[in-house]
Amino acid sequence: PAVLSVDGIGFTYKNGREVFRNFSLTVKKREFVALLGPSGCGKSTMLNLLSGFLKPTAGRVCINGQPVFPEMQALGYVFQTPNLFPWLSVEDNVCFGLKMAGKNAVEQREKARHYLSLVGLEAVARDLPHQLSGGMRQRVALARTLALEPDILLMDEPFAALDAITRIQMNEELLRLWSELSQTIIFITHDIDEAVFLADRVVVLGLPPNGIDSEILIDLPRP
Ligand code: ADP
Ligand code: ADP
Repeated sequence: PAVLSVDGIGFTYKNGREVFRNFSLTVKKREFVALLGPSGCGKSTMLNLLSGFLKPTAGRVCINGQPVFPEMQALGYVFQTPNLFPWLSVEDNVCFGLKMAGKNAVEQREKARHYLSLVGLEAVARDLPHQLSGGMRQRVALARTLALEPDILLMDEPFAALDAITRIQMNEELLRLWSELSQTIIFITHDIDEAVFLADRVVVLGLPPNGIDSEILIDLPRP
């Protein structure tokens, strides 16, 4: 069954810039899809259409068969900057997200500890964000999002700000988590090596408008 179905969408900004024309994409449960393309191809626009912040001018975007809307909570985000609260410990940062999602104090602690141990951070749960390395901070952001158990994890150039070695480690760790958690992932990147390394399927966007016959779909065999 499709977790995400983008069905023949069109999108044009008010100034007349047409970014999508009859664009379709289906993502199944557990799939790892990369959206690859150069700056200006429409990656951010697509992210906003998936999250319901922008409405397509034609077609529809559905998650689990439901048209998307902004407060839907089916999507979990990881961005390039972790945006942690500097005055809260690592564990409290994860708990805060869970609190906002309506979890009680006991559930917050349990889930925070569970997901922090999954990303290998249980030893630093009481540290403050500034005591961690960039890669560790991004792991906290990942744990905070995974703890919400979203239907789809949407990652927007999550490791682009990290050094090359840390980035490769983070990608390897992400693949391990993906196979352990059966998590559906959409990963936005402009790095072709990263897309090919991570994804089952790479959707290549080009110059807008992207749509029928203009984007390329590559299905990759997993070793
Ligand atoms: P990317 O994230 O891949 O760099 P964007 O989705 O930001 O691409 O932009 C896609 C195209 O739409 C670009 O040509 C950009 O200039 C244009 N665009 C983005 N945002 C707006 C806007 N608010 N109004 C008009 N045009 C926009
Ligand atoms: P091979 O098995 O052929 O030696 P590699 O494992 O070296 O292949 O990877 C092939 C390509 O994928 C290379 O261009 C490399 O830069 C890239 N790559 C490998 N590991 C990662 C990673 N963790 N993140 C992003 N790109 C990677």
